[in-house]
Amino acid sequence: MRNDVVLVVNSGSSSIKYQLLSPKTGEVAASGLVERIGEDTGGIEHHAGGRTVEHHGPITDHTAGLRLAFDMFAETGHDLAAASVTAVGHRVVHGGEVFYEPTLIDDRVVETISRLSTLAPLHNPANVMGIEAVRALLPEVPQVAVFDTAFFHGLPDRSKTYAIDAKVAAAHGIRRYGFHGTSHEYVSCVAAELLGRDPESVNQIVFHLGNGASASAIRGGRPVDTTMGLTPLEGLVMGTRSGDLDPGIIPHLMRTADLDVDGVDRLLNRDSGLKGMSGVNDFRELRRLIDSGDRAARLAYDVYVHRLRRYLGAYLIELGGADAITFTAGVGENSPDVRADALADLTRFGIAVDPARNTADERRARFISPPDAEVAVLVVPTNEELAIARAAAAVVAAH
Ligand code: ADP
Repeated sequence: MRNDVVLVVNSGSSSIKYQLLSPKTGEVAASGLVERIGEDTGGIEHHAGGRTVEHHGPITDHTAGLRLAFDMFAETGHDLAAASVTAVGHRVVHGGEVFYEPTLIDDRVVETISRLSTLAPLHNPANVMGIEAVRALLPEVPQVAVFDTAFFHGLPDRSKTYAIDAKVAAAHGIRRYGFHGTSHEYVSCVAAELLGRDPESVNQIVFHLGNGASASAIRGGRPVDTTMGLTPLEGLVMGTRSGDLDPGIIPHLMRTADLDVDGVDRLLNRDSGLKGMSGVNDFRELRRLIDSGDRAARLAYDVYVHRLRRYLGAYLIELGGADAITFTAGVGENSPDVRADALADLTRFGIAVDPARNTADERRARFISPPDAEVAVLVVPTNEELAIARAAAAVVAAH
């Protein structure tokens, strides 16, 4: 008899986040983080049953890291081989044009995800390493890839097409794919539930504001626009990523600042955004700097909020008005200032934030607009692991 639990794996280039949870109840049996894979001092922190177990020492690769984590599962009462996990759900960043629904993994699927690495050179190879590691350790358990791009697969042509030479675009897969799809889909469904309405009858705007950040415009449950594009670099200002900029800046820097392709890539992905403007990428540190009178931090905050409002305006027009505006992820869930400033002075559009509701110390999905507001403003904690676990369980049940 199989237990109804799914292992969810989110594998980065030097880290792996994992969670063992019930797709039905969302109850988490164990979770953990393998860090600094390939460096001199790796680490694992594993949580289960109120206990935390740690490992310190070099971790040569993803398989070694997961093997150690699996030992920790056994140590804390969840022998994964014996517990008969129903499925393993892997977060995969880029599904390209090929994958737009949760997909049962076999050799061909792994090969294709690998081939799509040209579109996501930082992410897909790491996702493949995680998949291969788990396949080696749990060969009997079905594995499912859940793609960050999938929800946005059906974006209308007008919002997914870049205005460049169509032949070049077609030859190189240049279009807007969108990312954080699992979160946007999950959060928009919870938002509709909170409104007591069918998702099909709701127009909504979702702001997923974490280290990476993106917004989406969703009409009747289907996304019609999103801020991230070919890669997760476009759109909003992020922790270390620039978001939108004049594409002319790139050749300009290559000509004048002696930057090569990798240099520009690093600048825009790792050394820009809040960190580039203020020196810090975490909102809590940014807030401390602002409170101490740091002007660069203040400017970074203002640029961040300005970009949010620019997309809010664009999406309100695109949708012809919204029933709900929802904030989620690390910043969206925890920063009342960002929510209040992003929606300040918009009462003429039926949009307002209730200060007491906005600053209430609550973790559940909730309204932060005044009771009589025309547009519902919501905070919904995202739960990508649960969404991936449900998707993986559904794929396995259907086979
Ligand atoms: P990701 O999954 O993209 O790594 P998260 O959704 O976990 O990111 O968000 C992480 C970010 O959330 C942090 O970098 C920080 O800026 C912000 N954050 C987390 N907790 C708080 C908090 N209590 N107040 C303000 N910002 C927070």
